[in-house]
Amino acid sequence: MRVLVTGGAGFLGSHLADRLIAEGHEVIVLDNLLTGRLKNLEGALSTGACEFIKGDVTQFISIDGPLDFVLHFASPASPVDYLIHSIHTLKVGALGTHNALGLAKVKGAGFLLASTSEVYGDPLIHPQPEDYWGNVNPIGPRGVYDEAKRYAEAITTAYHRVHDLKARIVRIFNTYGPRMRMNDGRVVPNFILQALRNEPLTVYGDGSQTRSFCYVDDLVEGIYRLMQAEHFEPVNLGNPLEMTILEFAERVLLATGSHEKIVRKELPVDDPKVRQPDIGKAKRLLGWEPVVDLDEGLAKTIGYFRGEIEL
Ligand code: UDP
Repeated sequence: MRVLVTGGAGFLGSHLADRLIAEGHEVIVLDNLLTGRLKNLEGALSTGACEFIKGDVTQFISIDGPLDFVLHFASPASPVDYLIHSIHTLKVGALGTHNALGLAKVKGAGFLLASTSEVYGDPLIHPQPEDYWGNVNPIGPRGVYDEAKRYAEAITTAYHRVHDLKARIVRIFNTYGPRMRMNDGRVVPNFILQALRNEPLTVYGDGSQTRSFCYVDDLVEGIYRLMQAEHFEPVNLGNPLEMTILEFAERVLLATGSHEKIVRKELPVDDPKVRQPDIGKAKRLLGWEPVVDLDEGLAKTIGYFRGEIEL
């Protein structure tokens, strides 16, 4: 296949590009490098099976030649990034998704939207199954990302209904691994870097809020399977192992061998209190479930961040 990955220089996009190339496909990456980095594509570009185009999906997209699939992964994805780039985050979800869909339609290509557990907002149903509609504050600080992704799901589904586009929607829960940006502000890079730099770990609020962390290789496997499934409705992918942020801080201290303290910082507005994917659908449909345990995933991620600090 010839596959376009928007946002392909980012954390998830670049891992997907690597996987597609390893499976024998040709990849075109379109990225404006706002939160992505060319360094993430070093391996992919060195194979000769990957082409990089610097461009912004909110502008008209033109790609020469045939395309079999468009994987739409462009978007700031960390709460810190989408607060800084709030209007652009809305534009990427709305205009960018519209452009990427239009391209897939004209090329007769399949389309996979990277959606998010944030469509469930601060959930009132736990764990979250795909048929839960969510609890989102449209005008809160996170609304720029949540509503952009909800709109992106709506327009992707409309293209499927109206134009018979081969659509896929993956709702991605917290995922971690090498190539997360050091200063993206999310809990995984923050805690690991703080531990490695002998600084206290910053737990927001009382740390009782929960998250469930999926290692990137598991997520990529799920997405690759979903591309090949004939299923047009959203599918959750994530690791159901749920823990409080305080427990997660302790796991990071243990994994890094750090004896640092934990300090409390203010809880961000609308920070979801709980989050855990119901992955029953992915299990049934894709025969998928995560296989990398947290200690193994953390060890690989810590190794990556050690290397980044030394650079
Ligand atoms: N968090 C924290 N300390 C940090 C960064 C994040 O306690 O230095 C918390 C944050 O308040 C949230 C959770 O960790 O409850 C996950 O935050 P992240 O930014 O990784 O993404 P989210 O899951 O909220 O989208």
